[in-house]
Parts: sequence; structure tokens; C-alpha cells
Amino acid sequence: MRRRDASWATGRILIAATDRAFRRDLRELLERLGLSAVAADDAARALRAADRWPPDLLIVDAREGPEAVAALQQALGERPALAETPVLAVVPSGRADAASQSVDAGATDVVPVPFQPTVLERRVRSLIESSRDRLELGRCRERLESIQRIARIATWSADAEGSEFQGAREFRPLLGLDPAPGPVSRKLLLSRVHLEDRQTLETRLQKSAEAGEGFGLDTRIQPGDGLERILHWQGEPLGEDGRITGVLQDITERKRAEEQIRLLSHRDGLTGLTNRRAFMQRLAGAVDMARRHQRSLALLVANLDNFKRVNDTHGHVFGDRVLQGVAERFDRCLRQTDLVVHNDDSEVVECNDVSRLGGDEFTLLLTEIARPQDAARVAGRLIESLREPFQLDGHEVIIGASMGITVFPDDGDDVDALLRNADAAMCQAKSEGRNNYQFFTAAMKTDSTRRFELEEKLCRAFENHELQVYYQPQVDMETGCITGVEALLRWSDPEFGAISPAEFIPIAEGAGLIKPIGEWVLRTACWQAKAWREEGVPPLRLAVNISPHHFEDGHLVEALNQVLWDTGLDAGQVELEITENVLMGDEDEVISILQQLKDTGVSISLDDFGTGYSSLSYLKRFPVDAVKIDRSFVRDIPLDPDDEAITAAIISMAKALRLRVVAEGVETEQQREFLRARGCDEIQGYIFSPPVAPIVVAEVARHRPPR
Ligand code: C2E
Ligand code: MG
Ligand code: MG
Repeated sequence: MRRRDASWATGRILIAATDRAFRRDLRELLERLGLSAVAADDAARALRAADRWPPDLLIVDAREGPEAVAALQQALGERPALAETPVLAVVPSGRADAASQSVDAGATDVVPVPFQPTVLERRVRSLIESSRDRLELGRCRERLESIQRIARIATWSADAEGSEFQGAREFRPLLGLDPAPGPVSRKLLLSRVHLEDRQTLETRLQKSAEAGEGFGLDTRIQPGDGLERILHWQGEPLGEDGRITGVLQDITERKRAEEQIRLLSHRDGLTGLTNRRAFMQRLAGAVDMARRHQRSLALLVANLDNFKRVNDTHGHVFGDRVLQGVAERFDRCLRQTDLVVHNDDSEVVECNDVSRLGGDEFTLLLTEIARPQDAARVAGRLIESLREPFQLDGHEVIIGASMGITVFPDDGDDVDALLRNADAAMCQAKSEGRNNYQFFTAAMKTDSTRRFELEEKLCRAFENHELQVYYQPQVDMETGCITGVEALLRWSDPEFGAISPAEFIPIAEGAGLIKPIGEWVLRTACWQAKAWREEGVPPLRLAVNISPHHFEDGHLVEALNQVLWDTGLDAGQVELEITENVLMGDEDEVISILQQLKDTGVSISLDDFGTGYSSLSYLKRFPVDAVKIDRSFVRDIPLDPDDEAITAAIISMAKALRLRVVAEGVETEQQREFLRARGCDEIQGYIFSPPVAPIVVAEVARHRPPR
């Protein structure tokens, strides 16, 4: 209330009265109420004053009759700016007829004389306030209309049947109709809407009226100016009469902007090629389709060779231009008609656009391929397209690309696997000397995936008895006779082929499988040795590898005893191979386990000697019987004098401690001769035999010395 009080009190009042005393008295009275008033002696003059001083209220002296009101109204009629100004007629007290005549003549309200200040104040106040409210409302409406015009939005309402539409000023122009006021019939309205959208709009309007549901809908409108526009309708049934009220907005620009943004967000800013996001979507869609229709598709990932060097030498701006150049060549190459690849049955392979995954990595999707060679042909063309050097800023740059290809579904049945494997194939291409392409093969699987898959497969292979034990002979250096064999695990997987124990033993260790597998090897090898004996094969020492995990397990001694008991094999025939890192544990405990093992009658050898923390003190402190010189030292004899020196030192050290020395990985006569000359006791290596199946061992052992 207070706010309104303050506001009305600043109101301006114009008095029109011929009676001078009346004018003066009224003005004084109003001023006492805190209002400003200007007085004129007739209507015409009063309004001339109003032009300079627009009033909030006109007070006219109608004591003599309603003519004064009528005269004022007539003068007001010529001044549209004042048309809304309220008129208060002063009438004689107790004359109801005079009051109603004044109202009929156009007065907004009447006030009796003699004045009662409170009555006068209340009338003046209420008229000024409502006049101001009306003015404000008018201004709001105008503002709203201009906002609606600018935003190309209009409010509308339709009767419950949807047969007639009333709209704000913009409504008709939005529909491409002339702006004349008046309702729009349903027929006319629908005739403006695009033929294909008409039915939907009609249905939505109808449903909205029937079910009382709001709706939102985009429709195109028939181009009047040749440019199709998109209008968004939002409607809601408001009120009990079922009228639908809503807004209509021209969203053409927004839609175009959205489309533009969508396009830009799918493009790589530097090269204009499809970007990673769009490519990933496309790939996902293509994989889905291929899966559904049981088709094949190929994914090609290309990485530029030595691009980093170009960047480092010439700077990033130059590097960017090289990338643009490559993109252009790839793109052109794919657009050339002769690149459309035909399969033998003349089916066309669809080459999609090249995309840039980021950095110097490009990718290409080939759908509908019948054979992987189709992808190879495309890769070949892309490589060929880079043959010509780039001429940039007076520099000649030659850039190649290494490419990896994966084929769905053989190499991966989802987006991730395909991309990962294409990457692995691309890396292989790099290591094959760059500027070439490679197809993905199972052997290229990235470490983590491969490891994960191998773990699962190994578990199953072990349960299904698919592991095998091979035996590699160890030969006496002087006599050339077999003295023993080392049991070595073998595993061949249908998908991955032969997998080296160097790869799967660590996996078994990580997966907690090494103990059961290790025990199985021990048991299998011991049964084998027993079987050889029964077949009449001369006794051979049987070396079995024991993983550090198995060694620390605590049940090894027990398991060993059990196996020896079950097989009845002479414990003296068995040698356990442990590695140096086993000895790194708690010394007393390690010695205690070793002693318990030795108490069963088996011997202990230190495998891969020289690769760990090889120290003479180990050999002295721990109860071991033999040392196996690691293959890595033997391999480079006689090329590497250091390896020769180490090997010679290990031999003499072991000899001094009266340990048997076995050299692993002996492949050449020179190596054997070197080892023999240094006093090595035994050799194990391809020079004599690789690890072989048990039946071969029996053959060889029966006919010893073999050479
Ligand atoms: P290791 O115990 O040092 O076995 C010797 C490795 O050298 C074997 O590899 C053998 O095939 C290889 N080798 C022998 N002579 C030559 C040669 O002249 N040239 C070349 N290039 N290599 C030769 P393999 O069978 O691949 O086994 C690798 C490693 O896997 C073994 O090294 C051993 O540490 C582990 N391993 C194998 N079987 C078992 C097992 O049953 N239990 C445990 N815990 N580990 C095992
Ligand atoms: Mg070994
Ligand atoms: Mg070894």
C-alpha cells in the first residue's frame, strides 16, 4: 500500500473550470493533499496545457451540467495521447441525475461539491492509480508485442473444436498471412502448414482438446517467400471451456544453427575430415548393421611415419599443413572413381570418408567387404597417394603412413576390439619398417587383452588336460651321453597357437594357477620317468622347474613326498630347478625349505644363473647342487667378450664350490667348445635337441651316445 500511496501522490491533475474561485479552491485543496494541479478556464485551454504537462487526471467542473464533460471529451478525442486519461466530473451534491448524466457524457467518475476532502482524496487516488495501471499495462503489452515480433513468437488460442484461432499481432505473419487483425480459420491455418505435417498438427490439436493434454510440435510451413520455415507449436488446454492456448514460434534460425553446430561438431577443424566423435558413431552403426546382416567390414587405421620429426624440425604450423595435405590426398584418392573396389562377384565395396582420429592418425571404414584383400587394396592406394613429396614453403617433405587393418567379425566383434586391434596391427606395420600395411593377427593382441584372454584360456586348458610336458635332454660334455632331461611345459591354443611358457607361467603365477599346474608337472614328469624306466630306458636325471610362488607355498615338500611315494621313483633321480629370486626371501626359512626338500633325496639346481642377484655367497650359503648358466650369456659366445668372461667366471666359481655346471641354450659348436674348454659339465640346447615329446626322449636315450 505504501508504495502505491507514494506513487499516486506524485500524480498530476489538470482542472478545467470557468469559475475562477472554484478553480482556486479546488487547487488549494488538492495541493493540501500534496498533489500538483494546473487549472484552466475551459476544456480547450486545459488540453493545450496538457500537451506540455501530460496529466494523470482531468477534473472538470460539471456543476452547471454535463455539457462541460461532453466538451472536454470532444477535445480529448482529438488528442489520442490523452485518450486514456480519466475524467473526474464535479457535480452538485445530492444530484444523482447530474452524476449519471456526467458519466453518460464520458466522465470516468464523479465527485460531489461541496467537497469532502476524504471523499475527494479517495476518488482522485483511485483514478490516478487505475490510470497509471492502465498505462503500465499498455506499455507492457507493447513491450511484449515487440519482444514477440523480435523473437518471432506469438501467443494464440483456439476454441475447443479447433475451428478458429485467435492470435497475438505476430500470429498471422508467422503463418505467412497478412497482418490484418481477426481470427484464422482452421482451414486457412492448415493450408499454410506443410502437407506432410498437416495431419500431425491436426491430430495433436484434437488430442489436446479431447484428452486435455499439452503438446509441442515442430511443423514446416509452406514457403510463401520460397524459404521453408520451421514453426514450433506449444499448446495446452487452459480453462474449463476447453480452449487451447499456446505459443507459436519461428525456430528456423535456431534449427539451422543447430544443424550447423551438428555439422561442425562432426568435422575436424584442421582437415575438414570427419572427426573422431562422428567416426565412432559411424563405426558403431556399421558394426551393428554388419552384425545384423552377418556381413563383414574392415577398419583401417593409418598413422603417419616420422610426423613428430616434421613437427620438431619445421614447427607445428608447418606440421598442420602437412596433415592437411595428407588429408586432402587421402580424400582425393578415395573419391577417384577407379578406387571403387569390386569384389570378384562385382559387388561394390563401399569406401566411407577418411576420418581423422586425432594427431597424425587417420582412419577409414570399409563396409560390405567380401574379402580382406579388398581392404588391402585400399590401403595400398592410400600409401601410394603419399609417394609424391609434399612441397611446402620451399621445403620438400616425404611422409609415409603405417596402416593396420582389422576385419569384423574375425578380429573383433565390437568397436573397442576392432580399434584396439587395428592399432596393434598399425604398430606392427611400424615395426616392419613403416610405410606399409598389416592385417591384425591374434599374435598382435595388445598385452593386457592378450594377458586377460590367456588367463581364461589357460585355466580352461589346464582343466581340460590340454597342457603337455616336453623334455629337453641334458648332455654330458665329455661323453656326449644324455644324463638327464628338463621337463618343460607346452601349451598350444587353437586361436593363439603355441604359447611360450615364458609368457604363460607368469600369467599362471598371477592367477594363482601355478601351484596346481606345478604339482601336475611334477607328478606327470615323475610318472614319465617311471614309465621310461619300465620301458628299459637308462635312468635319467629329471629336472623340474619350481616357480618361486610354488616354492613359498609351504606344501611343496609334502606334495613332493606324495608324488615320490605314488610313483615309487627314486628321489635321487629328481632335481628341482629354482631361480635366484627364491633365495631372496627370509634366509632361514629358505634354507629350511631347501633342506627339507633335500632330505627327501632330490637335488637342487639354480636356474638362469647370472640373471638375478647372482652372488657367490648364495652358492656358499644355500644347499644347492648345480648351477645352470642362463642362455643369455651363452647366446653371444664368442661374439661378446663380456659374456665369455661372465660364463667363464661362473664356471670356475661353481667348480670351486664343487657344484655341477649346466649351460643352457647351447646352439653352436663354438659355444660347446668354449664351454668344454672352461670345464662346464653338461650342456642343454638345440645343438643336441630341443624339448621333445617323451617318446622321442626314450628313442634318443636308448641309442646314446647319440652323436
Ligand atoms: P628355463 O627353465 O630356463 O628353460 C630353458 C628354456 O630355454 C626353455 O624354454 C627351452 O626351450 C629353451 N632352450 C633350451 N635350449 C635352447 C636353445 O638352444 N636355444 C634357444 N633359443 N632356447 C633354448 P621354454 O621351454 O620356452 O621355457 C621357458 C621358461 O619357462 C623356462 O626357462 C622356465 O623358466 C619356464 N617353465 C617352463 N616349464 C615350466 C614349468 O613346468 N614350471 C615352471 N615353474 N616354469 C616352467
Ligand atoms: Mg629350467
Ligand atoms: Mg633357465
